[in-house]
Amino acid sequence: MKILFGGAAGEVTGSKHLITFNGKKILLDCGLFQGRRQESDEKNRKLLWDPKEVDVVILSHAHMDHSGILPYLVKNGFEGDIWCTTATKDICNFMLMDSAYIQEREVEWLKKKKKFEEGVTPEALYGAEEVVETMLRFKAVPYHEEFEPVEGVKAKFYNASHILGAAFIVLEMTDPKSGTVKKLCFTGDLGRRGLPLLNPPDEIPDVDVLITETTYGNRLHASLTTVESDLAVIVNQVLADGGRLIIPAFALERTQEIVYHLNLLRKKNLIPPIPIYVDSPLATDVTQVFKRHLDCFNEETREEFSQHGDNPFGFNDLKYTRTVEESKSLNEKQGPMIIISASGMCEHGRILHHLKNNIEDRKNVVLIVGYQAANTLGRKLVEGYKEVNIFGDPHKVKASIYVMDAFSGHADRSDLLDFIARGDQETNKNRKIFLVHGEQTQLDAFKEALATNGLEDVYIPSYGEEVDLGDDF
Ligand SMILES: [Zn+2]
Repeated sequence: MKILFGGAAGEVTGSKHLITFNGKKILLDCGLFQGRRQESDEKNRKLLWDPKEVDVVILSHAHMDHSGILPYLVKNGFEGDIWCTTATKDICNFMLMDSAYIQEREVEWLKKKKKFEEGVTPEALYGAEEVVETMLRFKAVPYHEEFEPVEGVKAKFYNASHILGAAFIVLEMTDPKSGTVKKLCFTGDLGRRGLPLLNPPDEIPDVDVLITETTYGNRLHASLTTVESDLAVIVNQVLADGGRLIIPAFALERTQEIVYHLNLLRKKNLIPPIPIYVDSPLATDVTQVFKRHLDCFNEETREEFSQHGDNPFGFNDLKYTRTVEESKSLNEKQGPMIIISASGMCEHGRILHHLKNNIEDRKNVVLIVGYQAANTLGRKLVEGYKEVNIFGDPHKVKASIYVMDAFSGHADRSDLLDFIARGDQETNKNRKIFLVHGEQTQLDAFKEALATNGLEDVYIPSYGEEVDLGDDF
């Protein structure tokens, strides 16, 4: 078996790993590189293999850095199936279409501003048409149900508890010559225990090879226990000051988590009634998908839906706005309110309008609840810039900026170590481990942490590197 690391190797975006086994090519994830525009665009267009030669794709979850380049693969000749969980398929439908739309808008903007090199006309990686074609290739299976993506390989999805539908993938591979059976696990992104909404993550079965994410290989998250009280303090401050609470949030998962907590705070009477607006068409669509996948939720959430007839994503004070007119009208409304809007890193989308209209008022609060990559507007707010550019114009940051990192959907160092340590100790010791999906400092520190735990066969592959584990790996 060979593994070619085609993305998320030494970095956190562009997740894709090509497995070659018994003459077949299985692609684990097909994610988009994100970050600095030109560099990521070049890497996105330069696939390290011929898409026509890939037999099948197995997808861990719907985040764009894991699935966002699937339509480009199809556009360039991939003809196989794309396997994923049922919820991932439903979410991808909206997320990929949204990605095509964002790309088309960005190309229009680049053309208008002439922000491209002489002789190079910017072009979207793919359009809506390719997304439709790609969705026809999707094959959805529930968690824990075995399927055979290619001959001689059995596969299963396990709950990774990272976002709705997220899975870690286990492949059981039988060598046709020797009959030897070996197992490989690819974690995709792993979630945390104790997050609201989702079922806790499954335990890893005994496997011979593990490809694991390392996003927070050297970090411990803030505890989840004070999330609600912290949120209540902020909402009550905004109410007392007569201001607005602006929350930039990823349309998928983070928005639903915030809404869930606000609903609980209202029910417990820890905050008084306050109008709440989810101002993002994508978040509105994704929330509909959440309602269709109650099986993915933990007991507490399921109970709220079924026994009390409560919908944690729809309550009296909460409105979902879809049209541009509805979104604009929020600016004219009087009195305190909460606005949750995308994009989560304040790079594009309606959140920019809300920040522009509210950031210069001391009464208002901007609450950061997600990871903010370097060079984004969100990161500048976190770093305490006194002035920021929005739509090209400078704006003074007078609103209070608060950060709550307890919402992270990623396992931290202790979660990761705990996940890896489970199962048969003998198999564990002999296991080959590849560390991916992490910045270099996180990867190095996590490798050291594993060595301290007695796990020595650990390797950090680099982008484009192929590792040959032999037929009898
Ligand atoms: Zn993810």
